[in-house]
Amino acid sequence: MLKAFNQLTLENGYLDFPANFYHRVNPRGLKNAHLISFNPDVASVLDLDPCSVLPSDLARFFGGGDILPGSEPLAMKYGGHQFGQYNPDLGDGRGLLLGEVVNSKGERWDLHLKGAGKTAYSRFGDGRAVLRSSIREYLISAAMQGLDIPTTQALCLVGSEEYTMREGMELCAKVLRVTQCHIRFGHFEHLYYTRQHEALKTLADYCLDRYFPACKTAHKESAEQAYLAMFKQIRDLSIEMVAKWQAYGFVHGVMNSDNMSILGETFDYGPYVFMDRYQPDFISNHTDHEGRYAFKRQPDIMLWNLSCLAQALLPLIDREALVAALDEYKVLYQQAYYQQMKTRLGWLTDHEGDDLLIDQLIQLATRQRIDLNRFLRDLCDLQAENDASLHQCLGHFTDPVAVTDWLVAYTRRTELEASSFPIRQQQMRCVNPCYLLRSYMLEEAILEANNGDYRLVNTLLSVVRQPFEDKAEYARYAGEPPEWAGGISLSCSS
Ligand code: AMP
Ligand code: MG
Ligand code: MG
Repeated sequence: MLKAFNQLTLENGYLDFPANFYHRVNPRGLKNAHLISFNPDVASVLDLDPCSVLPSDLARFFGGGDILPGSEPLAMKYGGHQFGQYNPDLGDGRGLLLGEVVNSKGERWDLHLKGAGKTAYSRFGDGRAVLRSSIREYLISAAMQGLDIPTTQALCLVGSEEYTMREGMELCAKVLRVTQCHIRFGHFEHLYYTRQHEALKTLADYCLDRYFPACKTAHKESAEQAYLAMFKQIRDLSIEMVAKWQAYGFVHGVMNSDNMSILGETFDYGPYVFMDRYQPDFISNHTDHEGRYAFKRQPDIMLWNLSCLAQALLPLIDREALVAALDEYKVLYQQAYYQQMKTRLGWLTDHEGDDLLIDQLIQLATRQRIDLNRFLRDLCDLQAENDASLHQCLGHFTDPVAVTDWLVAYTRRTELEASSFPIRQQQMRCVNPCYLLRSYMLEEAILEANNGDYRLVNTLLSVVRQPFEDKAEYARYAGEPPEWAGGISLSCSS
């Protein structure tokens, strides 16, 4: 049953925590708040009838400072490791948890308003988010969802006529983030480093009940075993997420532990990038001089972050059990990554040498800096007896000789699959996107939006919501990025 927007009421489970878990504060409205875009897919997650959603309502409640029935907005307190250093002074500095919507399936979805104004945790910040970074978060949420990469979602993007200082004066905006979970690794770290061990247990119990009930039922006799099972689940969800990042060439950019969701969703988008050209040492954030968060380091950094979480759970779980769970990470990650790549290559069965062929492809992609995503989309059409399809694939490489050998080996391997070409082609097209949200598209949309033209933001939303379906009107976005795309530089400022 779909609800009209004016029937939306919120609950606030987080208010049941001890008062030092959060700070109650209402959002501050933006001048001349107006709706830029809203995502009907996310409306349906909330059981909202998209046709009942008035732009003026979204602008009022998610831009203007009005409060929804039942909502008691709050900023969450957390800590976290930023670029390897523990920072105790973190928390929602500009985002507010407005409350939870319970949908007809009984799922609880948090509504979190980013750019809502100052909180007790703002430190020197202004509590605002600029239009540039809000567009980036809004669109990538839809793009990741479309690609089936675990992510937080975003219901709407609201613009304003208010400015703040970032890279020059920039327009402010707000994004309404929607996800079932806003608990970060940093929530646990904060309670551990402030020695609030009772509160740590309270938080772990809340997470077990709400997000990992199966871990609790499987270990009724031992709370510690239930916590351990939960930790392993968080590990496995995180692995699944990073394996997909690596398989699709996604660089998060700021893998601080306060930006890690315990549900293994891509969270807190900043200077992220889908690489146009395959480059293992790619760094998306130009202030990350040492490349701590370079593309190839992401799986190791995820393990490092999981170690931070494990450390924070020491008061609840035996050290050796945690170390053993961490020791399993590398093998599990390798399995998950190769599985992703095999699916992209159209291989549903396991054969000796599969991993080696994948490694060889990655080496070729690295040496010749190809656009791996566009290559894999063309590989969906490869047929041994079809010369045009072969040329299409070879065309991605400057030196086609080495690639020819690989393609021969790939074709031979692929013949071991039971499915015929048209079936395999269809399957491969379901995992190899025609469209990715590339940096140049974002730059164009941001430029136009800053001039008051929001059409491209909305076009890109349509493009990335269904990235696997080739559509003639979006042909430009399936093609090679423009020359200037290579010079785009991103910062953390948002
Ligand atoms: P981020 O780099 O977005 O993950 O943010 C790191 C920390 O800084 C978080 O605690 C944020 O809430 C806070 N923060 C980021 N930008 C602002 C801002 N404009 N005003 C206040 N706090 C902010
Ligand atoms: Mg999902
Ligand atoms: Mg953050």
